[in-house]
Amino acid sequence: MNLRKITLLVLTSLMISSVAVSQKIKEKTVKKHLYTLASDEMQGRRAGTEGIEKAAQYIEGEFKRIGLKTYGDLDSYRQTFTFKNRRSGEDITSSNIIGVLEGKSRKDEMVIVSAHYDHLGMKKEGEGDLIFNGANDDASGVAAVLTLAEYFKKKGKNERTIVFIAFTAEEMGLIGSTHFGKGIDASKFVAGINLEMMGKEPATGPKTAWLTGFDRSDFGKIIQKNLEGTGYKLYPDPYPQFNLFFRSDNASLARLGVPSHTFSTTQIDKDPDYHKVTDEAETLDIVVITETIKAVAKGTESIINGKDTPTRVVIEEKKK
Ligand SMILES: [Zn+2]
Repeated sequence: MNLRKITLLVLTSLMISSVAVSQKIKEKTVKKHLYTLASDEMQGRRAGTEGIEKAAQYIEGEFKRIGLKTYGDLDSYRQTFTFKNRRSGEDITSSNIIGVLEGKSRKDEMVIVSAHYDHLGMKKEGEGDLIFNGANDDASGVAAVLTLAEYFKKKGKNERTIVFIAFTAEEMGLIGSTHFGKGIDASKFVAGINLEMMGKEPATGPKTAWLTGFDRSDFGKIIQKNLEGTGYKLYPDPYPQFNLFFRSDNASLARLGVPSHTFSTTQIDKDPDYHKVTDEAETLDIVVITETIKAVAKGTESIINGKDTPTRVVIEEKKK
């Protein structure tokens, strides 16, 4: 075979692999998950309410349909626990929803793909729209988790185990992810891929996203390398003043040393809908979410198939 033929062959196989990603991750699927989770019926998905229970059942149903296994000793997808809400003092019982796709050859090495499925609930009084739908925050991330679960299951090539988690009570202070972190041997978790507010185009333009804590491990650089030639670009978090690395569920695992970062696309410095009742599915761009899901699938491939292992995170916490 001459060099031209080899080049052609390599190019063709590269094209086939990126076509494969784009054919299996469909806007239609993403839209269905997003509109279901962000619907008024879910009443803003506040931890401990009937609304979030509906969201929990939807996620469980999808995990079952996709064919995921349960996690560890759990006999269902639910990791249920009770905690005290620091603000209201009430005891709340809620569940992380966890589904597992076992690795082919490196079962004991785990990669987390997560997003929080809770949100702020409803306004207690007032007129007009009272529901915090949390479409961008974070139905968009959960839609991505479900879409990726189906994608990786159908692909069936993950050498490492993937643990898909919809965390509860993020909005009450990263409660669900902190609870999950308490029960794990962190050394078995090679990476954490957390997805937040990925429904609006970033300042850097279409087909881009940003990653929190970019310099805290080489996770981001691995993703950038894997995205070369796809036309999609990942940037470091452009809003260091917001301290976002510590404000989402990735932090609960990063504190244990896991290279755990959050992907996002939203211009958080000027987003008019953040934590407002106007955070509705209609304000989001399904193309942005879908393209970002594809980029996450392609970008994390070498970690999921065991070729790359990101460096650990080291956090020196200030003493209180
Ligand atoms: Zn959020």
